[in-house]
Amino acid sequence: MKFNTRAIHAGQAPEEKTGAVIVPVFQTSTYAQQSPGVHTGFEYSRTHNPTRDALEECIAALEGGNYGIAFASGLAAEDTIMHLLEAGDEIVCTDDVYGGTYRQFEKVHRKTGLVFHWVDSTNPENVARVLNDRTRLIWIETPTNPLLKLTDLAAIVEMARGTKALVAVDNTFASPFFQSPLEFGVDMVVHSTTKYVGGHSDVVGGIVVVKDEALRDRLKFLQNAVGAVPGPWDSWLTLRGAKTLGIRMERHFQNAMAVARHLEGHPKVASVVYPWLESHPQHELAKRQMRGMSGMITVYLDSDLNGSRRFLENLKVFTLAESLGGVESLIEHPAIMTHASVPPEVRQALGIHDTLIRLSVGIEDIEDLLEDLDRGLQHV
Ligand SMILES: *Cc1c(COP(=O)(O)O)cnc(C)c1O
Repeated sequence: MKFNTRAIHAGQAPEEKTGAVIVPVFQTSTYAQQSPGVHTGFEYSRTHNPTRDALEECIAALEGGNYGIAFASGLAAEDTIMHLLEAGDEIVCTDDVYGGTYRQFEKVHRKTGLVFHWVDSTNPENVARVLNDRTRLIWIETPTNPLLKLTDLAAIVEMARGTKALVAVDNTFASPFFQSPLEFGVDMVVHSTTKYVGGHSDVVGGIVVVKDEALRDRLKFLQNAVGAVPGPWDSWLTLRGAKTLGIRMERHFQNAMAVARHLEGHPKVASVVYPWLESHPQHELAKRQMRGMSGMITVYLDSDLNGSRRFLENLKVFTLAESLGGVESLIEHPAIMTHASVPPEVRQALGIHDTLIRLSVGIEDIEDLLEDLDRGLQHV
């Protein structure tokens, strides 16, 4: 089955008893047993819940994986993955990751004895240089947040072959519609479903998708043992959002492309970063491993911090807010907002300057979006 059909049907057969076309919200914590230990496969909702099961099966199908393991948030998914590791294990990470990922790895997991190597993975040689026989995980985010740098998935998988390292890819910025890391031989795909998968800025969630059954079993054990699961309502909302993922992504791509081209020619804009622009240094790689790009665009204004503030204060359609991937256009200032937890010297080294603005282009009418941006830029 193709993408949109999977989004609408995978894991979502009509309910057996009533024929309800939509997977019900199974708002229950526990399930009746016929005799001690004799049950329907459902015992307790931390372990299994039919609404969550449907979500897991659907997103697994969209990623081209065999198993989905859902969590209460993207960071809960990441935390559970880290429980696969033990003290002394080494992890190689893309340096330009989501701020919350950086904070969790550095402030929570480092003190448990895990050893992190932050590298610019846009050059796979930087990953190779720190790989050793204690490396157990390679954590790749591509495209990255907020600089939209790409990592060559085929090259990383090739490098990990023959080592004991698993490869995990945070696919949140591309969405399953535009990038399928499992096809490249990656072991785990991670999403903050809060973003494009849910798509309506109304629910927080995360998921891990894998192909391998043994890895699924380890993660399922941890999902239950750690307990950071999404409730049935959140699972249901995410599943409802996922049905339209394909058509939303087509529109995000179309709008973002138009915004990127428009801003590229604007005198108040110093540069535009978008992997589908020919000017992106990794445009060829983007075309090789992605089928298109989401609504995420990063721009450097030809101004300063005050100029950035005036621009952001004078927008009417774009909402100044953290998060991304919803139907509505959002805009934010990474240095002050999403990436405040990244130390200033690291931000400078990465290029997260005061004139850097991150856009999450929504699916509104493009004329209104361009007009709004032009209005804001007049105040720069
Ligand atoms: C938002 C985000 C996360 C964290 O997910 P939450 O659902 O907010 O916990 C991880 N990675 C990326 C790329 C994100 O954008």
